[in-house]
Amino acid sequence: MAKNTNPDCKQCRREGCKLFLKGERCLTKCSFDKRPVIPGQHGAGRKKVSEYGIQLREKNKVRRAYGLLEKQFRIYYEKATRSKEATGWALLKMLELRLDNVVYRLGLGVSRSEARQIVNHGHITVNGKKVNIPSYQVKVGDVIAVKDSKQSLEMFASLKGTKVNTPKWLEFSTDSLTGKVLALPERDDIDLGIQEHLIVEFYSR
Ligand code: SF4
Repeated sequence: MAKNTNPDCKQCRREGCKLFLKGERCLTKCSFDKRPVIPGQHGAGRKKVSEYGIQLREKNKVRRAYGLLEKQFRIYYEKATRSKEATGWALLKMLELRLDNVVYRLGLGVSRSEARQIVNHGHITVNGKKVNIPSYQVKVGDVIAVKDSKQSLEMFASLKGTKVNTPKWLEFSTDSLTGKVLALPERDDIDLGIQEHLIVEFYSR
C-alpha cells in the first residue's frame, strides 16, 4: 500500500503546528519548537495566506496527523457527506475510530505510525480475533487486546503495570494489555485544535 514518506518533522513545519508524529521525542526534542517555519528557502518569509490556503492547511494538518494519503482522506470525506451527522464531525469520528488510532490512544504505540505498524504486524486482536487492518472501524463494546503470544515483546511487556492515560471513551488494563471501547468519542476528545468546518469548506469549493 502507498504511504506518506515525507519526513515527520517537515510535515509539522509545513502545517505550522505540532502533529506529534514521533512519540516521546515530540515532548522533549521537538524540532518545530526550535524552528517553527515552513520548510524551504523562503519558508521564513512567507506570511500572507489566502482563505483557500487556510482551508488547505487545515485539511492537510488532519490528514497528516492521522497518517493518511489524500485519496484515503477524500474517501473518508465522501463517506462523511453521506452521514446524518454534521459532515466535519462525522469525518473526525471515523478517523478517531480507526483501529490504528485506537491502539495509539490506548498507549500501545507512541505515535499513530507505530500503532499502525503494530496492527499491520498482526499483534492486535479485536474481540479475540486477529485484525491487521489499520483502517478497521471499532465499535462500542469492542475489546482490543495485544495477542497473547506477543505480550512478552519488550514494547508491550514494558507497559505492564504502568499507568496510561486514555480518553474517557476508552478503558485499558495494563495488566492484561486489553482495552475496551466504552462509548463513541465526543468532540472534546479530539485534540490538535482542529477546525473541521475549514475542511468541509475546502472540499465544497
Ligand atoms: Fe517532529 Fe514531533 Fe516536533 Fe512534529 S511534534 S516537529 S514530529 S518532534
